[in-house]
Amino acid sequence: MEYRRLGRSGLKLSALSYGSWVTFAIQLDEKVALECMTAAYDAGVSFFDNAEVYAGGESEKLMGKLLRELGWGRDTYCVSSKVYWGGELPTQRGLHRKHIHDACHAALRRLQVDYLDLFFCHRPDLETPIEESVRAMHDLIRQGKVLYWGTSEWSAQQIQEAYGLARQYGLTPPTMEQPEYNMLHRDRVEREYHRLYGEIGLGTTIWSPLASGVLTGKYSSGVPADSRMAVPQYDWLKERVIDSTEGQAAIRKADRIVGLAAEIGLTPAQLAIAWCLKNPNVSTVILGASRKEQLVENLASLDRLDLLTADVLDRIEEVLDNRPELPRQF
Ligand code: NDP
Repeated sequence: MEYRRLGRSGLKLSALSYGSWVTFAIQLDEKVALECMTAAYDAGVSFFDNAEVYAGGESEKLMGKLLRELGWGRDTYCVSSKVYWGGELPTQRGLHRKHIHDACHAALRRLQVDYLDLFFCHRPDLETPIEESVRAMHDLIRQGKVLYWGTSEWSAQQIQEAYGLARQYGLTPPTMEQPEYNMLHRDRVEREYHRLYGEIGLGTTIWSPLASGVLTGKYSSGVPADSRMAVPQYDWLKERVIDSTEGQAAIRKADRIVGLAAEIGLTPAQLAIAWCLKNPNVSTVILGASRKEQLVENLASLDRLDLLTADVLDRIEEVLDNRPELPRQF
């Protein structure tokens, strides 16, 4: 395993980590979840990603139960939660002080841990002043309940504002952002956040490296019955990722990536994950897997980075045809 610094912080996370969205407590039973957690940890994965909203809290409960059973030293792994969608009531959602406080304590109980290593604001909350959320996160850090706080899918401007407010008032600034990043979705990580890596030392824990599985080519001729897009609660995702015109175009691009992967001796999933790892501004790639075999295949991508030569990367660019334009540097 390779370990990378989480932005400018001193914390090093495994370059590949494991997340529980859609899978834990929905697709995976306890036995398979245990196999996946064990396979990840044994391969050196040190970061496990969660959120209060995943399976309505059941995902964190399952992971908490497994962490307890596995009995790993608390100093050998990092675990996260995210706050935003806690419930339907105004007191139960958003990034106001009350919900940030309640969500953190509820996640600690579900995960059966004393502190969260990473705690994310899952989306921006336009109805709460950013200063209130920054202060609430700072207080949790002072209380020892959270070690590092960050954002997920905030704009560069919102992250910059949180950072500026923290610096102005002597509060803890955000350390990391959790954006979507994969071959089909690049703009935010490669262009919008471009200056934040150097200027504020932003780390990134990137999600959906396979675009929910599209980049494996598995949706090339329909939706397999045992795949994510066949999970009834995720119809909305299927509509967006498979049924839309953009989705169909992405699937055709994925077909070409599958061909390229075969040529260089990688599986499509390994090529897509290795491509994310080539970006030095990616601190960790969060893998999703609904079975152990997928995880084992995906974890092996780290050993094959040398196959992504400059020539191969150029050929990938040709297929993708979506390289974000950086502002001109004078
Ligand atoms: P991916 O894009 O890698 O999708 C993972 C899914 O793809 C698996 O569950 C599996 O689905 C399929 N898959 C994985 N490997 C293979 C393989 N080798 N061959 C065939 N199919 C494969 O990642 P996720 O979308 O799961 O995101 C990763 C993590 O990121 C999440 O668990 C979560 O922790 C985090 N996340 C954060 C978000 C945020 O807003 N901050 C949003 C979304 C995710 P199946 O077998 O069911 O088809």
